Amino acid sequence: MKTFYSPDHLRHAPREEFTAGHATPAVEVPERAERVRARIIERKLGPVLPPRAFDDAPLLRVHNGAFIRFLDRAHADWTTRYGTRAGDAAVPSVWPARGLRTMRDGDIESRLGSYTFDTATPILKGTWQAARSAANVVLSAAEAVKSGEASAFALTRPPGHHASADLYGGYCYLNNVAIAAQWLADQGARPAILDVDYHHGNGTQAIFYDSSEVLFVSIHADPAYAYPHFLGFADERGAGAGEGANLNLPLARKTAWDGYADALHTAITRVRDFGPDVVLISLGLDTYERDPICRLKLTTGDYKRMGTMLKTLGKPTLFVFEGGYNLEALAENTTNVLEAFEDR
Ligand SMILES: [Zn+2]
Repeated sequence: MKTFYSPDHLRHAPREEFTAGHATPAVEVPERAERVRARIIERKLGPVLPPRAFDDAPLLRVHNGAFIRFLDRAHADWTTRYGTRAGDAAVPSVWPARGLRTMRDGDIESRLGSYTFDTATPILKGTWQAARSAANVVLSAAEAVKSGEASAFALTRPPGHHASADLYGGYCYLNNVAIAAQWLADQGARPAILDVDYHHGNGTQAIFYDSSEVLFVSIHADPAYAYPHFLGFADERGAGAGEGANLNLPLARKTAWDGYADALHTAITRVRDFGPDVVLISLGLDTYERDPICRLKLTTGDYKRMGTMLKTLGKPTLFVFEGGYNLEALAENTTNVLEAFEDR
């Protein structure tokens, strides 16, 4: 399996995030992707290739143009406003909640509040370059699959599935999997996205909610107790032309493989019924039993079982890297899915 990777992700290196009411050490760090890349080479999974450069057109098919310009300029505008006294990270402190106006061309504070939904997703000096390169990585991997590769892995960082058309959050800025799915649809393909990250892919769901072109299926921790809290419930089934093309399978706390496998079987059945000619997997590994921020109970061996089950779909498959924060196990868990899928 070909892996696509860009070292530009190293430019996005958060030191801390603001969650649970205070600053905590960042978990979405460069070492995540570096460890996975090293393990892919050790296990001889296949070549690790640089992306080619794509223009902004595929990004603008899923993201708002003003949002893209905001992300590109946000850190410079923050620095102009505050100099270095606010530190290196642009983080909002006020939001246009109910009854307030949304000021998308206002001060940097109002734009930050308008374009994000949490405080866990800092914009650093190199964030835009990293996120923009991740879009090239996922598009290059999509192009490989479109050109006849049976599978490919986009080692994208920062991740993407929480970002919608005009909102960033959950460590995500551009929605990598959505950009690839829309690009494939625009080439005449019929894509299905299966999101196995611990967290609901609220951004991906929002982008395709009205669409019958792209199926979105997500298995995740129930938002009744887990981030992103405000989306990902079972009654969200799509709208308009997209009615029925969205399936959420929320899981109870501490679900282990048996319960997980039932949901994965349901998800695979729905994907098969949709009749896709390409499958995109939002591959988050934060379902792991010792993930520092999550509460499901999959083991390292379970990721092999996951890869074997995904293979039964028998479709060209694009794996897109999302979450997973246990640095000791992340590379093994990721490559277990990919190797089992390749049946090696
Ligand atoms: Zn996650």
